Order: sequence, then C-alpha cells, then structure tokens
Amino acid sequence: MATYDSIVIGLGAMGSAAAWRLARRSRRVLGLDAHHPGHAQGSSHGHTRIIRKVYFEDPAYVPLLERAYELWAELSRLAGEPLLRQTGLLMLGPPDAPVTSGALRSAREHRLPHEVLAAHEVRRRWPALAPGPDVVAVWEPQGGLLSPERCVLAQLSAAARAGAELRHGEPVRSWREEGGRVVVETPRGSYEAGCLVVTAGPWAPALLRDAGLPLTPTRQVVCWFAPVSGEHAALLTPDRCPPWVCELDGTNVYGVPDTDGRGVKAGVHEPGEACTPETVRREIAPEEVEAIRRLLRRILPGAAGALRQAGTCLYTMTPDGHFVIGQPPCHPRVVYAAGLSGHGFKFAPVIGEILADLAVERRTRHAIGFLAPERFARAHPGVQA
Ligand SMILES: Cc1cc2nc3c(=O)[nH]c(=O)nc-3n(C[C@H](O)[C@H](O)[C@H](O)COP(=O)(O)OP(=O)(O)OC[C@H]3O[C@@H](n4cnc5c(N)ncnc54)[C@H](O)[C@@H]3O)c2cc1C
Repeated sequence: MATYDSIVIGLGAMGSAAAWRLARRSRRVLGLDAHHPGHAQGSSHGHTRIIRKVYFEDPAYVPLLERAYELWAELSRLAGEPLLRQTGLLMLGPPDAPVTSGALRSAREHRLPHEVLAAHEVRRRWPALAPGPDVVAVWEPQGGLLSPERCVLAQLSAAARAGAELRHGEPVRSWREEGGRVVVETPRGSYEAGCLVVTAGPWAPALLRDAGLPLTPTRQVVCWFAPVSGEHAALLTPDRCPPWVCELDGTNVYGVPDTDGRGVKAGVHEPGEACTPETVRREIAPEEVEAIRRLLRRILPGAAGALRQAGTCLYTMTPDGHFVIGQPPCHPRVVYAAGLSGHGFKFAPVIGEILADLAVERRTRHAIGFLAPERFARAHPGVQA
C-alpha cells in the first residue's frame, strides 16, 4: 500500500489550496479528485468569483481575508500572472439591509477603506448602474475578481511544484482509520497516511457522513447577458462598472461586469433548491432566466439583453450560512472544510493553510472558533458534531 504523510480528498478550491500549503511543509502529500481540473460538476467553475474584505456576513471573517489577500498575492507571484483583479466593489441596498449595514459594521470595526454613497453618486460615478433613490451603497476599493478555474490550476501547480502527487479522475470510494493511520480506497488501489483532509464541496455529506454535519447542497443558476446596445456595452467593462451585490426586496442579487466578452454575469445569492451533485437538474427553464433578467434590469438596465449563456453551480449550505471547519468526532487524524455556503472561494488559500495547520500541528493561529462544528450541536442537540 502506498504511504503518505497526508492525503487530500477533493482538489477543488479548498483541496488544491490544502495540497499546496501541506506540500510547502515538505510532507509527502497525495491529492485525489474524482474529476479533472476546471470541471463544472461542483462549485468552482463559471469564470469569476467576487473577493472583498468588507464582510457583511460577519466581521470575524476579515482577519482571514487579510491573510487570503496575502496568499493570493503569493500565488500570483508563483503563477507569474495576476490572479486577483482589483476592480473595487459595491454593496447596495436599503440602509438597514444586512448587505449595507453589515458591510459598514465590518468596515468600521476593521478600519477598512470604504465610502458610503447615495444612489445619485453611484449613478454619476458608474453611469451603467441605476439604483433606486432609497438605496445606499458601500464602496470597497479593495474588492475585486478572481477566476476560479485559473486559481485552482495555480494552486494545483504550486502544490505539484512543492512535491505533491495529484491524481485526477480517481474517485475515493471510502476512507477509514486503522491502527493509528488513515486508509483511503479508490478503484485504483489503497493509500495510507498519517492524516486526511476532506474537501469534497457538495459531495461532503457523503464522505463525512460520520460527522453528522447539517450540510445541504443547493442548485444555483447563473446567467450571462448581452448588453442591450453597443453604447451600453462600453459602460459594462470592469473599468467602468464594478462588480456589485444588491439587496432588492429582501433578495441578494449579484452582478459581474463583462470581463472577457461573455457578457454581464448575474445570479441570486440565496440558496436554491436542495439537491445532490448526482440529482441536480442541470437544464434551466426560460422562467428562471427571465427572473434573473428582471432583477438585473432594476439595477443595471443596459446589461439585461439577450441571454448568452446559463449554467448551474452548487452551493453547500449550513443552517447559519457560515463555513464549518473541524474534525469528525472520534477521528483525530481527519480534518475538513465544508459548508462554504456560497461565499467560500475568496478564502481558499487561507482555508488551505488552516487545514494544513490542523492536519500537521492540530492547531492553527487563525481565529476560527466561530466556524467550529460544535455550534450545530448547541443549536440542535440531536446533531452529532
Ligand atoms: C454560482 C456560484 C457563485 C459563487 N460566487 C462566489 C463569489 O463570488 N465569491 C466567493 O468567495 N465564493 C463564491 N461562491 C462559492 C465558492 O465558489 C465555493 O464556496 C467554493 O468554490 C467551494 O469549493 P470546494 O473546494 O469546497 O468545492 P469544489 O470546488 O466543488 O471541490 C470539491 C472537489 O471534490 C471532489 N470530490 C468530491 N467527492 C470526491 C470523491 N469521492 N473522491 C475524489 N474527489 C471527490 C470533486 O470532484 C471536486 O473537484 C460561489 C459559488 C457558486 C456555485
């Protein structure tokens, strides 16, 4: 049986990062993934991801984001290409909406550069945007965009260059602890290691069944729309129109400018219908496209033209929308990051670092108490965490 110091199951955003950070400690690392880099079955495809430090979800994420920005810069140097495109970012909504009030709270608590703008100032600075008069905006100049496919590839190649062995197209059938080691089975063989990192995205409920985590994969629809005219197209590039998140009638909607001629990307940042990666409906109904176009028209009317492309992607939700990083009970050699709840990509390298810390040293300097699985056991005494 081939023997390693650590094995990573799942080489998407989190697993490719964990393999990179583990391999940098010169440990014999094996990474296994059922699919190939850039695949569209999980959660890390679709050309763009928003990154920001102003964090309306909880200011406790900000220190993790500070480290994530450092690591994206380090990875960009290793990859020889800028992975983070700093465009700035707008969070819009009524003044008491969680998106705007939460953004302000985290910006003030952590003294992050930001501006508060009235709707007319937004329209003046970015003429494509047309927020209603009751909307306020928080502008974050450090916000920007990442390409998930390029970032995962960069993490994989950094891991491989640091000595990790990466095997794609090799699904893990099972894992178990045996005699103080972890044994992982795939159709090609058995592998043994001192520790195991599970980063299986929407497949985590199957691989972490023993952990009893309340994880729900959900189906998310994303659309790319053509501009309504050539005149509007000129206003929809990242230098004229930043990415944004906007609360409209209690629904969080997001939009990404046209970065590469594909059109403006838009979607709803709310959990869609519950599914599994095996049962998810991949076809998209015209009514689903129309619902997204209607929302987009309210904030970026010149972008809501013909549909260019639509696709599905999976969130893995926890009940409170916060990540869960920990160990399954009775498995001291196993660590996981799961339930990234539709906002995890920007954190990938720092989560990889945390997983490597926990796998190797059983502790981390990062403040992740608020992401511990024990919170579910407290909230739902029947849940084993
Ligand atoms: C539409 C959409 C928009 C989003 N927008 C943003 C955003 O703007 N900003 C942001 O920060 N985040 C965003 N997110 C969230 C972010 O993309 C995810 O949190 C992140 O990609 C999750 O990464 P992961 O590594 O957990 O999962 P994945 O990248 O899906 O990786 C899991 C991997 O595990 C592998 N695997 C599973 N089971 C096995 C097995 N048995 N054996 C071997 N391999 C296995 C899979 O093949 C897969 O490659 C968005 C998500 C979606 C769907």
